[in-house]
Amino acid sequence: MEEVVPGVWIAEGGPGWGWSNAVLVTGSSGIDHLLFDCQFTAGAGHALADRARQIVPGGSVGRIVYSHANPDHTWGSVAFPDADIVASAATAAEMPAETQAPVLRRILAQPDPPAGSGAAYLQEHFGHFDFDGVPGPRIPTQTYKDRLDLDVGGREVQLLCVGPAHTAGDTVAYIPSQKTVLAGDILFIDDHAVSWGAPLTGWVRALDTLLALDAQCFIPGHGPVVGREHVAGFRTYLETVVEYGQRQASSGTPLLEAAAVFNARRRYGWGLPERVVTLLAAVYREAGVEGEAQAQLGLVGLIAAHGADLDCRDSPQRR
Ligand SMILES: [Zn+2]
Repeated sequence: MEEVVPGVWIAEGGPGWGWSNAVLVTGSSGIDHLLFDCQFTAGAGHALADRARQIVPGGSVGRIVYSHANPDHTWGSVAFPDADIVASAATAAEMPAETQAPVLRRILAQPDPPAGSGAAYLQEHFGHFDFDGVPGPRIPTQTYKDRLDLDVGGREVQLLCVGPAHTAGDTVAYIPSQKTVLAGDILFIDDHAVSWGAPLTGWVRALDTLLALDAQCFIPGHGPVVGREHVAGFRTYLETVVEYGQRQASSGTPLLEAAAVFNARRRYGWGLPERVVTLLAAVYREAGVEGEAQAQLGLVGLIAAHGADLDCRDSPQRR
C-alpha cells in the first residue's frame, strides 16, 4: 500500500479483469480505519488486513465500504469478519444477483472448455486468482440511500450514491480535507470500461457529480491515481460511446458490428476493447433495443465468442 495523500493509502490492483484497487482511510486520531473496497480473494483480503495493522499498529479496519456489488471489490471481505459493511441500498439489493463464488469456481475447474466459449474467456482472465476460502462477500450491515457522512478518526468521509452508473448503486467516497475522491468503478484508467446494464447516461451524470466536487485526486476502481483532466477525458469517452451507440441503435446496426466499427475507428490503445460491447449493450437497452444478452455471464459469453473480432488495438498508448 502506498500513501497517496496523508491518511489515504492505495493497494493498486493493476490492469485487466479482477485486479481492483482497495483504499485504506486512516483518521487523524483513533485506530478505527475505513477500507473502501477489499479486492477479490481471501488472500488479498488478509494481505490488506496485515498491511492495515502495519500502517497503524494496534489499529484495525472497523468499517468496509463497498463501492458496488461486483465480486472483485467485495469478496476479500471474508478476511474482516468483525468489520461493519456499508453499501448503498441499491448495491445491497443487487448483490444476490451477482456471480456467486461456487459458480465461478465450477467454471474455472472445467477441463478444456471450447475456444471462444464464456468458460474459456473466464479461465483466461480469472484462472490466476485463487478463490479458495471465499464463500462469497459478506453482506452489508449498514445501508444508505443518497448520502452518508462518516467520521473516520476525526476525518470526514462523505459517501455519495451516484448510481445507477457502472452498476445499479455505485458509491463514491469524498474526503474534503484531502480534496480526494475514491471513485470505485465510476472511473477506469488504462482499460476500457465495462457496464453491467445500468443506463450509460447515468454514468455520464455520475462523472459530472465527481467533477463538481472540490477535488484534485481521484482514485479509480482499477488503475492508477489520476487528476481532474483524466476524469474529464473519461467522461468524454463515455459520452462518445453514448452518442455513437444512440445513432447505431436508431439505424438498426447489430450490436457486435457497432462495437467492431467503434474500436476500429477510435483507437484508445487501452486494454480489453471487447468490453465496448457491454457499454453499447447498455446504450441499446436504454434506446429500447432488446435481444442481446444482458446478464453478467451472458455478456461475458458474448464478448468471449467475438472478442478477437473486437480487438482493434493499435500500438498501445497507455496513459
Ligand atoms: Zn471492478
